[in-house]
Amino acid sequence: MTSVFTRIVRGEIPAFKLYEDELTLAFLDINPAARGHTLVIAKPELPGLLDLPPELVTATALTTQRVARAIVAALKPDGFNIIQNNGSAAGQVVFHFHIHIIPRWEGDRSVKLWRPG
Ligand code: C5P
Repeated sequence: MTSVFTRIVRGEIPAFKLYEDELTLAFLDINPAARGHTLVIAKPELPGLLDLPPELVTATALTTQRVARAIVAALKPDGFNIIQNNGSAAGQVVFHFHIHIIPRWEGDRSVKLWRPG
């Protein structure tokens, strides 16, 4: 089955893309928990962290750092969360590896960090 993120990689579904290279893609989450909520995905359709070969662990981590730096420069949050869900019990809804970058501001305690599937 083709994941919604593979369809974004192929350009079949629109997304607001922030960064792309050969192995990874970063785009704004369609249902943001906070302003600037971004997803970094591995382009190959692999479900979770334990399925990734080492080069994709490295590539997604490097893209996460690069994109987080850009978000911090652009939006000036006071902090940010990195979240990566594995399995429906953990709230994973899209079974195509992705890392959430969620900017945070002091006093935004109402941000709902996880909404269990
Ligand atoms: O980690 P989890 O699988 O729960 O997160 C999936 C995320 O993908 C959700 O935050 C959802 O808003 C996002 N999404 C998206 N664009 C889509 C489909 C889902 O940004 N077309």
